Amino acid sequence: MGKKRTPFFIVRRSPLHGLGAFAARKIRKGTRVAEYLGERISSEEGSRRYDDDASDSPHVLLFSIDEHTVLDAAVGGSDAQYINHSCEPNCESEIIDGRAFVIALRTIREGEEITYDYHLDYEGKQTEEIRRKFACRCGAATCRGTMLEPPAEEQPRKKKKNRKKGKGKDVKAGKRKDGKMKKGKKAKGK
Ligand SMILES: [Zn+2]
Repeated sequence: MGKKRTPFFIVRRSPLHGLGAFAARKIRKGTRVAEYLGERISSEEGSRRYDDDASDSPHVLLFSIDEHTVLDAAVGGSDAQYINHSCEPNCESEIIDGRAFVIALRTIREGEEITYDYHLDYEGKQTEEIRRKFACRCGAATCRGTMLEPPAEEQPRKKKKNRKKGKGKDVKAGKRKDGKMKKGKKAKGK
């Protein structure tokens, strides 16, 4: 039995939202901090399971791997599901060989809350009410006020391209910067 390594983070109450993940030690840039796990299901099945319009405080547990596939962390999830969203995150999510990782964008100090930008993809019209429902309180100067990805027409050009199909899957690590597969927790609109 080898010695136990300190985990990258611990889960505890967060000032941002519910529970959060906090660095248990210094984490270097580029480190795969966590893998987002969950049952692999179709996007349609995901939408069926989570009718977010029905709840005030939507639970975002789905992570889009590509256009057709999502991970549902409610089934066989990992602690990665507790990592909160921030508009100015210290990590990013990346799909590598069909698996979803949370990777450090910079050195993270012990005790810092670990975050990444969810780029929530809302399939429907983003009304004020919807944006509020997915409100972000990350406190960053650049905070969008919502975890939702801006509607396509408001997005800077580079954002758009990766969101298109295809590119999701085998894009090389480090390449996907923006598309981030509609990080998703897929919010469903009507
Ligand atoms: Zn924010």
